[in-house]
Amino acid sequence: MKLLLVNDDGIHAPGLAALRQSVQGHGEIKVIAPHQERSGMSQAITVNAPLRLTEVESGYMLDGTPADCVKMALQGLKLAPDFILSGINLGSNLGWDVLYSGTVAAALEGVLQGVPSIAFSLCGSAGYFSVAAKIVNELLFRRPGFLVRPELLPKEGVLNINIPGMPRDKIKGVRVTRLGVRNYEGVMQRREDPRGNHYYWMGGEPVPPDSKELDVDLVAVEQGYVSITPLKFDTTFHEIIPDLKGQLDQE
Ligand code: MN
Repeated sequence: MKLLLVNDDGIHAPGLAALRQSVQGHGEIKVIAPHQERSGMSQAITVNAPLRLTEVESGYMLDGTPADCVKMALQGLKLAPDFILSGINLGSNLGWDVLYSGTVAAALEGVLQGVPSIAFSLCGSAGYFSVAAKIVNELLFRRPGFLVRPELLPKEGVLNINIPGMPRDKIKGVRVTRLGVRNYEGVMQRREDPRGNHYYWMGGEPVPPDSKELDVDLVAVEQGYVSITPLKFDTTFHEIIPDLKGQLDQE
C-alpha cells in the first residue's frame, strides 16, 4: 500500500509528524507539504508564479498551496498513491469552515485526480496530537477500517474527520455526521501598528452551535465524539433546478 501525506500547516507542522506516526509501518509513505503554513487557502492553485520543490529529510517541501502539493505529487513527481491523507490539521474543520480549509481541499484535490482521500483535523491544542494520532491509527487500521475497505471511500468526495482535543479515555466514540452551521463573532479586529497606522486582523470566536443533534459535526465534536462527514465536490443545488427551469420556461 502506498500512502501520500499532505497538509496545509506546512512541512514542519507537528500535526504532519503525528499523521506520519499514525501510519508508520503501514506501507510505503511519501510526504509533500507547503514550505510554510498555508491554512485558509481552500483549493487555490499557483498559476502565475514558479513552484520550487525541495527534498527535505521528512519528504518534499513545495513553496505552493496544499492543492499545488497534491498536483505536484501526482503529476510532477508521478507518485501513484493508493490513498491521500491530509492533516492532521491544528484546529477544527467543521461546518462551513470546510469551504476555507486547505486541509480539506488537499484531500478534495486528491479525489479530483482519482485518489481516495481523507482529511483529519484536531479540534483543540497541539498537546493532543498524540491522542489524535492514535485515533487516526485506530480508524484506519484497527477497526474494520476505511483503508482496508477502500470501496467505502467516496469517489466523488472525501471523508472529513474531526477529532476532539481531549484525553483518549474522554472520547466517547465515532459519529457519522453532516455539516453544521458555523458563524463567528468579532471577525475583523482593528488594531494599531507601532507607527500609529491601523490594520485589521481576521479572527473571531465561533458562535456556539444552536443544535443539539449529534449527527451535526460541530455538536458531535463538542460532545466528545470523533466526527466523520462525507463531503462531495459537486455543489450543484439539485433541488432548485426544476424551479429555475420552470421560471425560464415561463418567459
Ligand atoms: Mn491548517
